[in-house]
Amino acid sequence: MSKYIYTFGDGKAEGSAAMKNLLGGKGSGLAEMNLIGIPVPPGFTITTEACNLYTKNGAESTFALIKADVEQALHQVEELTKMEFGSAENPLLVSVRSGARVSMPGMMDTILNLGLNDVSVEGLSKRTNNPRFAWDSYRRFIQMFSDIVLDMKPTTKEDIDPFEEIIESVKHAKGVKQDTELDVEDLKSLVVKYKEAVKAKTGNDFPQEPQQQLWRAIQAVFDSWNNDRAKYYRILNKIPEDWGTAVNVQAMVFGNMGNTSATGVGFTRDASTGENIFNGEYLINAQGEDVVAGIRTPQQITLIGSKRWAESQGVQEDVRKTQFPSLEESLPETYLELKNVQEKLEQHFKDMQDIEFTIQNGKLWLLQCRNGKRTGAAMVQIACDLFREGKIDEKTALKRIEPNKLDELLHPIFTPEALKTAKFVAKGLPASPGAASGQIVFFADEAKKFAQSILVRIETSPEDLEGMNIARGILTARGGMTSHAAVVARGMGKCCVCGAGALNINYKQRTLEVGGKVYAEGDWISLNGSTGDVFEGKLQTQEAQLSGDFGLIMDWAEKYTRMYVRTNADTPKDAQVARKFGAKGIGLTRTEHMFFEGERIKAMREMILASDLAGRQLALAKLLPFQRTDFEGIFEAMNGYGVTIRLLDPPLHEFVPHETAQQQELAQEMGLTLEQVKQKVHELAEFNPMLGHRGCRLGITYPEITEMQTRAIIEAALNIKAKGLDVKPEIMVPLVGNVNELEHQLKVVRKTADTVFKERNDTIHYLVGTMIEVPRACLVADSIGQIAEFFSFGTNDLTQMTLGFSRDDAGKFLPYYINNGILKVDPFQVLDRQGVGKMVELAVKNGKSTNPNLKVGICGEHGGEPSSVEFFHIVGLDYVSCSPFRVPIARVAAAIANLTHA
Ligand code: PEP
Ligand code: MG
Repeated sequence: MSKYIYTFGDGKAEGSAAMKNLLGGKGSGLAEMNLIGIPVPPGFTITTEACNLYTKNGAESTFALIKADVEQALHQVEELTKMEFGSAENPLLVSVRSGARVSMPGMMDTILNLGLNDVSVEGLSKRTNNPRFAWDSYRRFIQMFSDIVLDMKPTTKEDIDPFEEIIESVKHAKGVKQDTELDVEDLKSLVVKYKEAVKAKTGNDFPQEPQQQLWRAIQAVFDSWNNDRAKYYRILNKIPEDWGTAVNVQAMVFGNMGNTSATGVGFTRDASTGENIFNGEYLINAQGEDVVAGIRTPQQITLIGSKRWAESQGVQEDVRKTQFPSLEESLPETYLELKNVQEKLEQHFKDMQDIEFTIQNGKLWLLQCRNGKRTGAAMVQIACDLFREGKIDEKTALKRIEPNKLDELLHPIFTPEALKTAKFVAKGLPASPGAASGQIVFFADEAKKFAQSILVRIETSPEDLEGMNIARGILTARGGMTSHAAVVARGMGKCCVCGAGALNINYKQRTLEVGGKVYAEGDWISLNGSTGDVFEGKLQTQEAQLSGDFGLIMDWAEKYTRMYVRTNADTPKDAQVARKFGAKGIGLTRTEHMFFEGERIKAMREMILASDLAGRQLALAKLLPFQRTDFEGIFEAMNGYGVTIRLLDPPLHEFVPHETAQQQELAQEMGLTLEQVKQKVHELAEFNPMLGHRGCRLGITYPEITEMQTRAIIEAALNIKAKGLDVKPEIMVPLVGNVNELEHQLKVVRKTADTVFKERNDTIHYLVGTMIEVPRACLVADSIGQIAEFFSFGTNDLTQMTLGFSRDDAGKFLPYYINNGILKVDPFQVLDRQGVGKMVELAVKNGKSTNPNLKVGICGEHGGEPSSVEFFHIVGLDYVSCSPFRVPIARVAAAIANLTHA
């Protein structure tokens, strides 16, 4: 029989850090902390397997399966805490929290203070000798439980939470501003009003029976695995549906019991920059989610952090000390204990930890620890620092790199010139680095209103996730570095400035007022997420400067990889950028991209519209010098490395003008009538151009195109060779599905090259190979391999043709497929291993069976996507090729794949 409940407490635990998949991040962390002697309130974890059973079979059968064990575990918590669930004297209260394998901040539900009812509230009051606290906890619990479990949460952005409305009216009647100004009688009357609201809305009394509260809360947490925002977050972060969430039931400790109580969140290193400095935020006399929700401005844990904060906010030292003291100053002994705990945790887990803690009457309790989310810059810095500190070896350090996150480091920053004249608007916290300019929107669901928008909110909530993802940057008036906005933005690698307190945001009028100046929806602003500065207008950006540690990561990637990385580049400039990032050659030059500019497109159109061979040859002769010059630039940039140049691929129809005015112009230039041009355009139209007259079919029907391109390649190669450089041209035939197609093109290429060699009285070694992007090519790769010197997988077309999903039209149904679980991810982004992957594997095997020296690579978009790169490593490709800015990502992904599958 499976075990679904794992208990922890008093230095013992049934689980451990190794059981993350089963216990979730939170549950496994709580277990491990117990095992290493860190103070953790006792509790138990219901496994992710139970959640999956619940999702599959429903509550009745699942709960029947776990009921006895839950009761037993709860009993153990009662014994350890010497408290009793529902007791009128000494009641045990618990929190019921979600906790998936990976953290999904704020996406799922949590309920605190569970176990309170009309009886136990009196018990809590007696035990703590603090009636105000007891009644405050009860009213918070009713609100939380009713919002989440009884579905009383507002459903639209205009609605206000019914409980907030009640408390506001009570405060108004009393003439006070803060919740803390309400006395115990106010709170008691609030509880009455809250319960009335529950009865009015649900028709039932607020559930008084603690067992019933518990089971309903467990069910609500299981249900929250499938709420819309959790689903969206999973899609965004490629988290599988079938992981499920664990549920953690744990004895409550209280940070809101007075001035020696507090609650906070800390990081063992700076999650934004990676600096090795303990940091975080806390609130005195506050409960659980207050810090995370960003409702009150939190204070810094450390003195140094507090001083830095004050400086960034322009707060004077005396004000800081009295109004915003650090924990180090306000509760020095507990601070020291916390500092030791964080050191111990980092030493134990050997990675930056993100911790949640509560101080109850001076006693420290840890409620969570996990590997902290971090920016790309912090990720690199922390991995390298941990290596230098001797805590991890270089292989481990390299595996700590999430390849996709390197992207953030490559992003632009504002130019110094732009910053010189930029009009400063406000300062907030540097929550997530980068530079972003955009037009203001005030609601997450309106982020799409402008192509570049900045989402401006008082604070963000999990509902805003989608809009945050769409916006270029996020700016909030409230909330600290650990607020929802900050954590989520860092996870997304999105520029974010938080807690810019000077901003007055008016949602109704859709305005932002600061220092007497009003900005409206649609106005441009710019954010510097690395400094927290907010500027007026749109600012110019420049490329990122890469730190030395980036180089160290790349050195490790070089050392541990088996595959190498090439780039897809169509211009000498792109080739140079890619070289800087460590690309070893070019995997794909799409020659058609060279035809779109200025004079070239005219010659191209002449070629297409020509009515005979002579006309075509005339036009091709005009294109030749353009191509040759481009190739020379690329060969020069890739000195010493292979350069794969693909022969013309797309349907000719893509090059001709479709509007009458342009057709008229073309007609005039070519001495044709408008009608003749229109007729030709009409003739070129295809029902299904992706399966039409394209790829090698062009070169076969018009061999003069292949001749011209081969001539340009070989002449350019000879010219660059003459300069003393090492040129390695590779000519690639697209869209081959039949060996005869390749054979035909091969003959044209060889003949043309020989002619050029004779003319120039010089030769150069070159390869001829083919793209593998038609399923048939995979099936007959043994025969194709006999004459091809290399294969390069065109996984864009191979995906299109294997799945039968049009690359251009899949957008109409793919989002639906993904949202409804028919597909887990977009197969055009992440290689479909089961289908397309099999094709690739088969083609490699077939090809190598007849040609053991066959070189194999991939140049579709998947070449820069880490999980696909891993697959290509597994099936034994020699290289992957991707766009220049993804080269570092692919290099690290390839090395990690090699380390993982050694
Ligand atoms: C491919 O199909 O994967 C490929 C690289 O070619 P293109 O995207 O140009 O069709
Ligand atoms: Mg293709």
